[in-house]
Amino acid sequence: MTPLQLRFGVDVGGTRLKFAAVRQGRVIGRHVEPTPRTGVAALVKALADGCGALADAVGAAPTSIGLGVAGVLSHDGARVLQSPNMPWLDDAPLSALLATAMAVPVRAENDANCIGWGEARAGAGEGARRLACLALGTGLGGALVLDGWLVRGGRGRGAELGHLIVQADGPACGCGGRGCAEQFASQTGIARMAAETGWRPGIGLGPAALVPALLDAARDGDAIAAGITDRVGVVLGTLGARLDALFGLDRLIIAGGLCAGLDLFAPSATRAAAALSSLPLPPLVAASLGGDSGPVGAAMLFDAPTTAKA
Ligand SMILES: [Zn+2]
Repeated sequence: MTPLQLRFGVDVGGTRLKFAAVRQGRVIGRHVEPTPRTGVAALVKALADGCGALADAVGAAPTSIGLGVAGVLSHDGARVLQSPNMPWLDDAPLSALLATAMAVPVRAENDANCIGWGEARAGAGEGARRLACLALGTGLGGALVLDGWLVRGGRGRGAELGHLIVQADGPACGCGGRGCAEQFASQTGIARMAAETGWRPGIGLGPAALVPALLDAARDGDAIAAGITDRVGVVLGTLGARLDALFGLDRLIIAGGLCAGLDLFAPSATRAAAALSSLPLPPLVAASLGGDSGPVGAAMLFDAPTTAKA
């Protein structure tokens, strides 16, 4: 990246569009817009308006824009094949529409891949050659960066680490499978386990409020809450050991809102991995870019060599 290049990245898919302006790997400006819910044209307009506001704030127009989109994208990122939060986006050529509106190159990628790429290039993954990133939020997103390549599969698949099965007879998952890691190591999974165990302080709370309360309770010695955070750790350790067996990882990055609970998850993760392998679990480290990792990774997509060109 030359000094003149100003990359904009946008996290698309939550209730807010989160923009970041990145120059030489550093965030120099941020902007937030509500995510419109009315259709593709409104979304493209909100993205263009947000980029315009960010350009005014940093005093320069972007040389490229990257989009991290929640959903399944075509292998080249040109089309959004399926978006669970924004079904009206299905089959939309989002990057081409924004490129026309902004007259700059636009590239799109799955949002979890952007989080992993941002952490790999400018966050907790710096210096690691082979890493997996697990983004624990509402669901469990995953990304693999191997020898400098952001790994992508064909048919809009690839690096769906949250849908690796950790319990064959486990709870049903939205992907159609059963016992996926996402059913445990996510806000949704923790809320389900809290309901199943009858954890009383969680009654009536949605997952976003329940999870911080449960992490606090586990730290205060609440046995049921600690049992749930142990279970999350076991799932992370199981996933980590299996991914390490496949790829020989240098580092396992835990991102997303739940990375605040890594101190609670790490002991049982280490124990679970030790039961599966004589080799130690790769270092578990918390993401270092916080809420910036998605937009930063999106901004840096133009520097991403990716697998799966077709
Ligand atoms: Zn699944």
